[in-house]
Amino acid sequence: MASEGFREKRKLAQKAEIIVKFETKERYNNIRQILKKEPSLRNEEELHLIASSRDIVQEIEKRVQRQELVKRRVEEVLDPPDLLEEKVSFLVEAILKAKCLVIYTGAGVSTAASIPDYRGPDGVWTRLSRGEKLGSYNLADANPTLTHMSITKLFQEGLVKHVVSQNCDGLHIRSGLPPQALSEVHGNMFVEVCTECEENDEVYYRLFDVTENTCLRRHLTNRFCHKCGGQLRDSIVHFGEKGNLRWPLNWEGALETAKKADCILCLGSSLKVLKTYRALWGMNRVKTRRPNLFIVNLQWTPKDDLAVLKISGRCDDVMKSVMHKLGLVIPDYNRCKDPLFTLATPLRPQELDSFSTKYLNTSETQDLVDKPCNNECDDVKDRKCGINEERIDCSVSLQSLERPGWFGKGYSKNKKSLRKRRRVR
Ligand SMILES: [Zn+2]
Repeated sequence: MASEGFREKRKLAQKAEIIVKFETKERYNNIRQILKKEPSLRNEEELHLIASSRDIVQEIEKRVQRQELVKRRVEEVLDPPDLLEEKVSFLVEAILKAKCLVIYTGAGVSTAASIPDYRGPDGVWTRLSRGEKLGSYNLADANPTLTHMSITKLFQEGLVKHVVSQNCDGLHIRSGLPPQALSEVHGNMFVEVCTECEENDEVYYRLFDVTENTCLRRHLTNRFCHKCGGQLRDSIVHFGEKGNLRWPLNWEGALETAKKADCILCLGSSLKVLKTYRALWGMNRVKTRRPNLFIVNLQWTPKDDLAVLKISGRCDDVMKSVMHKLGLVIPDYNRCKDPLFTLATPLRPQELDSFSTKYLNTSETQDLVDKPCNNECDDVKDRKCGINEERIDCSVSLQSLERPGWFGKGYSKNKKSLRKRRRVR
């Protein structure tokens, strides 16, 4: 009898709790609706409800402010032309004064090459988080942008010491920046690596996207090392993975230069990922000895408050003006002289069937059928990995192209499976 009475009490208590929760929620929703109304349209009863619920009103107002802040942060903002010019002049002075300038680049430096960024309004992550489908992109169609070419020129002039890129599109290498001067901290989709070779990782540059069959936590490319026969893997570091490859990530180079850096220029990056690598920002130094930070980005970044200058502009516009003010000519990109053709390791005959993506060709016109552009390309043509052009039907491979590993493959799948797991629980 006693236990029955106890059970009854507990049931009543639970019921009362549910009713209170329900009433609080209803009150919250009512007040939210009232606050949306023009003050002059609120009736006596509504005014009384607001006056007697200050804590709920404050909570709602705080939430609205937070939502507006989030909205503002993803908005893309452009500085007016006069202000932009003024800011660029200030940046140019800093570039000339810097003893060790490093550049950190993000997807924003490649959007002019029609490669989607990650967190912009139509970025890869933005669209994946909205549950939207992504189109297919082929990086073999992209060329280095004005920004890539400007950075390479600045490096050649000795004004830039090192570049750290979060992009895996390989466009820095293709613009002529030497691999030693570059840290591709999230990998390069043209690179596959043997981690089984004894002394150093063996790096294979290719003329095609090696991530066709790879995705999150699955990195083997189905090709094998020419030296030791070990399985090759791509170099892409997916969201949630830790990049341990020595090359092309080159963390050693990035950290070595970060130690000496007195000026950092961030181009086209939300810095949301890069900010977590504390060693890149000189955060272990006393405040006064930390490098001067310059940021060029259309959206808010978490480092904005720490920057000496934030330029809200497109990378290509800013770099064009920077180069003009420095009196430097931006070299044109010439696909025939693309360094990737020299760096690439030729495929063996038995490997020719190991990929179906479009490969980088010397044609500037980007036709589906490969055409050498002129006589000076002959030497490049000979080096094209021994690919038999007639054998590859690019139109078919493009249509059947699935989202490759570099392009967030596995990310949405992973999210879905997480959701499923939560539902099961
Ligand atoms: Zn090997």
